Amino acid sequence: MNFSNSYARLDEVFYERIRPTPVQDPQLFLWNSSLAEQLMIPNELNHDSVALAQTFSGNSILPGSEPIATVYAGHQFGSFVPQLGDGRAHLLGEVIDQFGQRWDIQLKGSGRTSFSRAGDGRCALGPAVREFIMSEAMKALGVPTTRCLAVVTTGEPVFRETSLPGAVVTRVASSHIRIGTFEFFAARGDHQALKALCQYTIERHYPELQEEGDTQYVPFINKVIERQIQLVVEWMRVGFIHGVMNTDNTSLSGETIDYGPCAMMGIYDPQTVYSSIDTTGRYAFGNQPEILQWNIARFAECLLPLINADRNKAIDQVGPVIAKISEGFEKEYMVMMGKKLGLMFFKQKDRNLIVSVLNRLKDKSLDYTVTFDLLTKSLMSETAASQMNSELEECFDLWQKRLSEQHAVAQDVQGLMRQHNPVVIPRNHHIEEVIQECEQTGKATLAERFLQVLRSPYAELAQTSEYQDPPSDGDKGYHTFCGT
Ligand code: AMP
Ligand code: MG
Repeated sequence: MNFSNSYARLDEVFYERIRPTPVQDPQLFLWNSSLAEQLMIPNELNHDSVALAQTFSGNSILPGSEPIATVYAGHQFGSFVPQLGDGRAHLLGEVIDQFGQRWDIQLKGSGRTSFSRAGDGRCALGPAVREFIMSEAMKALGVPTTRCLAVVTTGEPVFRETSLPGAVVTRVASSHIRIGTFEFFAARGDHQALKALCQYTIERHYPELQEEGDTQYVPFINKVIERQIQLVVEWMRVGFIHGVMNTDNTSLSGETIDYGPCAMMGIYDPQTVYSSIDTTGRYAFGNQPEILQWNIARFAECLLPLINADRNKAIDQVGPVIAKISEGFEKEYMVMMGKKLGLMFFKQKDRNLIVSVLNRLKDKSLDYTVTFDLLTKSLMSETAASQMNSELEECFDLWQKRLSEQHAVAQDVQGLMRQHNPVVIPRNHHIEEVIQECEQTGKATLAERFLQVLRSPYAELAQTSEYQDPPSDGDKGYHTFCGT
């Protein structure tokens, strides 16, 4: 592979050089062949499942790879943890793909590092499969996300509440720089490392900021905000609940990262939360925009000493930028929701329509994905229109009236709606069913079948209908776990 390891060229305060711990009996479980092609995995490796299993379990190290575990800190559920870091992950290096884009290749579940604390450095098969399927689904839905190249079973058990089959998952990401990476150095007052990290991040993710000789920290914060807003708006579009929006799980690249306790919202309710450890609902579906703002505030705090030696002066510059986030989010969110409703140009008054429709969904306990799919279909289908009419009542009339003001061709409106309203999402009960089957049979058949449908979330394939049904119990009592 075409390795080019820029992070490992940074000062050693950013990472520990450490190799993965070999596993007993690596077997390739899931392989992402289209991503492999993009990454230009050499043919002789790509067609040799034994070699792939050896490589993507960490048993053999490819030429050019320089494994490291990166260091970071982070706010977890609002409390600062000064030392986190890759406790069960190894960054093998960076690879340049066929489009000249740079990707981190990281193994997760590949053994202990100095950052493991009490953890075993391992990952169970279930969470690995979950990350593979969820991230592929998000990618196909059009949501910025890290991806998975492989899941390899290890032949070793991992011990959680019970003994589970172990696995190593290969994550491919634009980078693994997190808000928590900045927090690590800010907490230690290491301004030199902070500056270097800013420069590195700007070069890698925001090169448009590079022209000025001096690093422009406030514009940098603004760019990070823009990307986080885009990301969370997309989560809200498809009903994604991240579940653990800690600052160590906020990537500076603006990609969704860490698929631990994530879930999809079925019935529309902003208070939906599934994570077993999120007892206060901090990371509930509807709280995500507010948490975005909270997380960015933590990021901006890290940069204060670089912006101005006088902390008050720095706050004067950054405060208004942070305060504007909720307004900026709301604007993008409304435009997106407008598109879900087929509105080509959002007008201020459309806010009322959007809010009424969403309130109606909540009051009637309607499924988010099903309703927007039916609304899309209702433009061409009498059956869908009459079902929506009876479920949404006056909201449906208001919506139709608003659409008629656009004087647009129905096909065009439907096209716009379809781009924003998937026909299928990775529903929680299907994910669980697939994971269970993988664990019990040791085979990936159902996962591959599910993936095929999820890779075309805006089209109805022959098997799509098998995965569209909302859970019969409305996901009551459904819980997700961090997978640690
Ligand atoms: P996460 O919940 O995956 O965001 O992980 C939070 C922190 O716990 C990170 O520093 C992880 O590396 C660490 N961690 C999670 N699971 C394990 C494990 N099984 N062994 C070692 N470290 C872990
Ligand atoms: Mg994490």
